[in-house]
Amino acid sequence: MIRLDKFLCDCNIGTRSEVKDLIKKGKVTVNGAVTKDNNLKIDEKLDVVTCLGSEVHLTGLVYFELNKPAGVVSATNDKSEKTVLDLINENIKDLFPVGRLDKDTEGLLIITNDGALAHRLLSPKYHVDKTYEVTLRDSISKDDLSRLEAGVDIGDEDITLPAKVELIDEKKIHLTIHEGRFHQVKRMLKAVDNEVVFLKRISFGEIKLDVKLAPGEYRALTTKEIESLRNS
Ligand code: URA
Repeated sequence: MIRLDKFLCDCNIGTRSEVKDLIKKGKVTVNGAVTKDNNLKIDEKLDVVTCLGSEVHLTGLVYFELNKPAGVVSATNDKSEKTVLDLINENIKDLFPVGRLDKDTEGLLIITNDGALAHRLLSPKYHVDKTYEVTLRDSISKDDLSRLEAGVDIGDEDITLPAKVELIDEKKIHLTIHEGRFHQVKRMLKAVDNEVVFLKRISFGEIKLDVKLAPGEYRALTTKEIESLRNS
């Protein structure tokens, strides 16, 4: 048995306060009867719950945003290194990170067990925007900013796709790229004779790194954030 509001949250209907509001407004039924009691205990296997007229079911799919600290690897397991999954303190099988950040890179990493969504997000066809805060060894010139924006030769067959660059200060930029090539940001800066001294991902699609999360901390994505990933 599970509390009705917890069940609706687990079904990704909304945050705890959003689902309580829906229940209070009479938008939720249990076995055909409207209930305004969010403390009601339901049997998630037997009871039929609807919200806004549609039946809701547990999908078992979970989505977290982790503020990856430096020093852990973006893998599901590793013989010698601590992995990002070692930081996720949940008893959920088949979690994996959506893409990779280098061991020394910090910041936003999505962790999920939704293989289909992850596959789509990582497909080169979809080009999800990823923004990095990049701290540089040397001051960057206007000319270098234009070169990064236009696309640079990082030793692959093709030059990088057009990027967006925002100058934060002379040794710090926000760089938005649409691809996910190996060590891409570091190689792009090397192509303009500079070097990345610190790298942090600050957004993925429409999801921004939550400033309340210290490195190593994580939280569940909101329903809105999950929807934004599905629509990216
Ligand atoms: N680009 C890099 O060079 N490293 C990362 O971790 C992510 C993007």
